[in-house]
Amino acid sequence: MATLSILAPCYNEEDSITLFYNEIVKLKDKIDGIELEFLFVDDGSTDNTYNKLVELSRQDPRVKYISFSRNFGKEAALFSGLRAVTGDCTVVLDVDLQHPPEKIIEMYQLWQEGYEIVEGIKTHRGKESIFHKMMSAVFYGMISRIIGIDMRNSSDFKLLDKTVVTQLAALKERDTFFRALSYWVGFRSISINYEVQDRIAGKTKWSFFSLFGYAVKNLISFSYAPLHLISIIGIIFLLIGIGFAIDAFISYLMGKAVGGYPTLVFLIILSSGGIMLSLGIVGIYIAKIYDQIKERPQYIIKNKKE
Ligand code: UDP
Ligand code: MG
Repeated sequence: MATLSILAPCYNEEDSITLFYNEIVKLKDKIDGIELEFLFVDDGSTDNTYNKLVELSRQDPRVKYISFSRNFGKEAALFSGLRAVTGDCTVVLDVDLQHPPEKIIEMYQLWQEGYEIVEGIKTHRGKESIFHKMMSAVFYGMISRIIGIDMRNSSDFKLLDKTVVTQLAALKERDTFFRALSYWVGFRSISINYEVQDRIAGKTKWSFFSLFGYAVKNLISFSYAPLHLISIIGIIFLLIGIGFAIDAFISYLMGKAVGGYPTLVFLIILSSGGIMLSLGIVGIYIAKIYDQIKERPQYIIKNKKE
């Protein structure tokens, strides 16, 4: 009999956990011959999430949990979970039921057919602001081009075979990007579509700034494109500069005065702005390296029941 692990990150989800658990238990009867394992990761919740998890695990021995010392973010929660699940395959999904659990049946069938990764692709993005939609179109457009896979509607809702889980769990990078790493690891994969549902309870943890930070962080961790871009801009500036110099020199030889104080001011501002921006971009990469070599853990576990 195969074991299916259900991995769900939870941050202040006291109202969702029981509903989520019931939905998954209901599902079990619809899939022949599986055992379930639940692994909830309490990502430093400040509400009653932790107590709910402890209570649930007392009632049902299939329920395991990990609890962080503070909020470390969803990526950390997912990766700590991947390091602890024991199932033959693992489904990763949100506890707020925005990822429809009944899709697990289809995912599981595909796994039985031999697929090692089943990617959940959003057909309908649910309630998101126009601005959010635009930002994510730009970001995923860029990421897709960089890693050569269409990631525009990808999500964290996935089924992963044990071998894939082992590979992901062994990664040592500190800033993980789960959504893209599951493509990066390779293996035999297939996609299925699903519609994002409304949250059953609670509210989203994303703000504009946190989404922007998420986009920058992931772009940096998957691409050197920003560095290439500033090199190219640097070369263009250099060529323009050489052009100006030649022009000034010719004017000088022809006895014409070289004027243009405003032009000079403009050019200084433009180029120093460009230099500062470039330094900033280089700085982000250096900060990343610094973060990585400090070898601080991605998360700290306070309590667990595995
Ligand atoms: N989550 C988490 N840590 C965080 C933020 C979110 O573990 O710091 C969990 C959250 O409990 C939920 C999932 O990640 O199960 C998705 O979060 P959310 O619903 O806020 O994101 P959205 O669905 O709006 O993208
Ligand atoms: Mg959600």
